Amino acid sequence: MIDIEKLRAEFACCNCGMPHSFGIEAVEVGSGITSRTGEILKNNGFGSKLLVVADKNTIAAAEGVIEALESEGFVLSYRMHEDLRVAEMSEVCAIEGLLGDVDGVISVGTGSLHDVARLACARQNKRLCLFATAPSMDGFASYSAPITDGCFKITYPAKSPEVIIADTRILAKAPAYLKLAGFGDMVGKYVGLIDWQVSHLISGEYYCERVAALTREATDEIMALADRIMKEDEESAEAVFMGLLKTGIGMSLVKNSRPASGTEHILSHFWECKKLLEGKLSDFHGKKVGVATLMILKEYQRLASFEDVDIVDEVIDWAAVKNAYGELYSDVEKLNNPPISHEFDHFEIKKNWQKIREIVASVPSYDEVLCKMKLAGCATQADEIGVSDELVELGMAYHPHMRHRLSLMRLSYLIKEKV
Ligand SMILES: [Zn+2]
Ligand SMILES: [Zn+2]
Repeated sequence: MIDIEKLRAEFACCNCGMPHSFGIEAVEVGSGITSRTGEILKNNGFGSKLLVVADKNTIAAAEGVIEALESEGFVLSYRMHEDLRVAEMSEVCAIEGLLGDVDGVISVGTGSLHDVARLACARQNKRLCLFATAPSMDGFASYSAPITDGCFKITYPAKSPEVIIADTRILAKAPAYLKLAGFGDMVGKYVGLIDWQVSHLISGEYYCERVAALTREATDEIMALADRIMKEDEESAEAVFMGLLKTGIGMSLVKNSRPASGTEHILSHFWECKKLLEGKLSDFHGKKVGVATLMILKEYQRLASFEDVDIVDEVIDWAAVKNAYGELYSDVEKLNNPPISHEFDHFEIKKNWQKIREIVASVPSYDEVLCKMKLAGCATQADEIGVSDELVELGMAYHPHMRHRLSLMRLSYLIKEKV
């Protein structure tokens, strides 16, 4: 079990330069605690009028939650979905329109449902409770929310829920594909940690060692459970949930997604946006992130095998970038005006090359991660997530332009192996 107040106190005395805080006030995780939902919300200052945001799968999984709220006198209104797979800005606005007459929101389910609720509640200043039904991704404890507007995915500052409730009986019964998605989202942290440290080293971007250590610990813990992920086992479901919670809190502590997402998340977002343009839905977030992580780890190991590098002039073929992004190019253009490569001295890469190699070597290797993912039962190949070879190639070549953010991948455009 996580001690929120202890964690808060630990980070209050961090000397990294950023005052750390997070908005989560209470985390209640336990076997059969659904029946206490109403009592937990009352004890945590929720007013009596609540909007329930859910879909038909999550509300069915959370059996007993409505009764638990009603028996404590909560007056409920609903925003029910069939199956909300994309967190759309139009849905954020629709929820905002329903918030005038309620005191707070309970999101039954993590994922897109909760992402739209987090942004709507942040904008309208309403209290939010997450009732988790599956350990499938870590965005639930995060400060920011990835929202799609016209096929382009942008991360907005939002808020984390004040209260998180998870019944381990429900988490254990969650479908295996959702648990595997949670595992895939977690393996991505290894790339995220490389990118964050490399950017700190080269551009002086803010970095907190303690928050990075929190993510690393959570990721290692979950990797060790690889053989138990698919089982209907309350203990491992709780452990995965806790790992996701810790990395989510890590993002809240530094008010950005660095501790939990690197270039593998951007690659996955690139695929997602390209598929949306064709009117196609993508696979689950964590499932895609897991596959993207393997591709990036392989590429990072190849780069780290260079004993030394030379700096090359950056030549970006904007016509090719435009071609890769199609209708999304105008958003990409704004993010690259000027490109992030103008913000640091490129010779820092050469100067720090041995340190960069050490950073890459500090996380488990491609083979180790692949082995754990196979043991867990995760997808490991692009065809298992409906991504074509052509889309893989396009993504690997152009995804870093989708964010104004430094990664080892972005730096790879500025170097060549010294022979
Ligand atoms: Zn710190
Ligand atoms: Zn993620």
